[in-house]
Amino acid sequence: ERITLSETTHSLNTFTYLPPTNELRDQAAASSERYATNTQLSPIDGIPISVKANISWLNRPTSASSKMLEHYSSPIQADVIDRLTKSGAILIGQTNMDEFGMGSFTTNSAFGPSINSVPFLSSSTPPKHISPGGSSGGSASSVAFRSSFASIGTDTGGSVRLPAAYCGCTGFKPSYGGIPRHGVIPYASSLDTVGLITPTPEDAKLLHDVLRGESPNDPTSITTLSSPPKTSLSSLSIGVPGSYSVSESHPSITKSWVSAASTLSDSGATVTIFDDSLTSIQDSLAAYYVIACAEASSNLAKYDGVKFGSRIRDTDVNYSEEYANTRSKFFGSEVKRRIECGDTVLSKEGTHYSAALQIRNQLRDEYAAALLKYDVLLLPTSVSPPIDFDDANKNVDQNEMMANDLMTVGASLCGFPAISIPVSADPGEDFWVGMQIIGKHGDDDRVLDVANLVY
Ligand code: GLN
Repeated sequence: ERITLSETTHSLNTFTYLPPTNELRDQAAASSERYATNTQLSPIDGIPISVKANISWLNRPTSASSKMLEHYSSPIQADVIDRLTKSGAILIGQTNMDEFGMGSFTTNSAFGPSINSVPFLSSSTPPKHISPGGSSGGSASSVAFRSSFASIGTDTGGSVRLPAAYCGCTGFKPSYGGIPRHGVIPYASSLDTVGLITPTPEDAKLLHDVLRGESPNDPTSITTLSSPPKTSLSSLSIGVPGSYSVSESHPSITKSWVSAASTLSDSGATVTIFDDSLTSIQDSLAAYYVIACAEASSNLAKYDGVKFGSRIRDTDVNYSEEYANTRSKFFGSEVKRRIECGDTVLSKEGTHYSAALQIRNQLRDEYAAALLKYDVLLLPTSVSPPIDFDDANKNVDQNEMMANDLMTVGASLCGFPAISIPVSADPGEDFWVGMQIIGKHGDDDRVLDVANLVY
């Protein structure tokens, strides 16, 4: 019964592709057989796991929620999918997302927005229609709803952590390269990571252990070493970067941050608020968008309808016009905006782009210095609560959407591991808040262990 998908799942628009039911049934039966006969099972054998629509699944659609790849069937299998299937996981479907990963609310999907499942889980009627966050919004909504136990997403600037926060789940972004990216449709290659959305940090650790480690298919992949777990909160030193306390933050999110820090301190951890050392934070959002757009404009150049993607054939025009017509028709407006932005920053004598790289280096040094002093850093996952689709006065403002990424882009620019764990907002607020724990590069196990201690 666990793999029966309900009507509600369909109206939440969480999935872009579901495999045939008989295939799922056969996989479940094969897993049951292994349970009956085998004692050396992988911890994810028989577990229904979904994957984001930008992760190549052999001979299946892999659309990245774009009209450009609507009819594309992948000729390759991503390493993560290989590792999942070899461990006996049941791939339950592909999840909806912002087109090519560009967005924070899953409103930029060419197949319509996903809806946050959390209000549908309580008895209050009618349920509110709010965003699950993005870009891995279908993944997080599905995990919260238990139509998949866990989901594999991607996180370039927060796309696993933010939706996990909005859906009351755990979202883990490993160190850059910690899980191989082979077969993941690139958005911004120096930032893209494969991330996990699970109910708890303990589940994230189990799944991470199955998927982690170098692959010959991805030269940027690494094997992060296990660090000795901290066994109690009293041995932990936690830094709270006060520079992330911004006036735009929703008061309830700030309150949850303060209360998380004082709960940790009351439980014996050494909690220190520091204000001075992360000075590049204020420029980090601009640096992120310059770098992400520059890399996106280059990564998306291949979708010309000839090598890749949907095509408008027109014998009356030359190839350049045919490319332009194809790209104008099949890319969504946010993707076009990012490509234009990327082309602009790369063509203007390189000043924006090289400035952004400088900020990135400085930020990495500042974060690394802070993480020499503290085991981990604690900060919220978002600036604002999720947008409310029922509020007719509220249009999605793309700039506001970008500003909401302030909390997550730091760990992405530095390539450091970060996890978002759910905490409840103020009584009276009906949304979840995520708290982020960030560690230094390669310290993935520590981040997961600390998250487990504080969860
Ligand atoms: N919201 C950010 C962006 O649009 C992050 C997206 C992501 O991590 N894929 O770039």
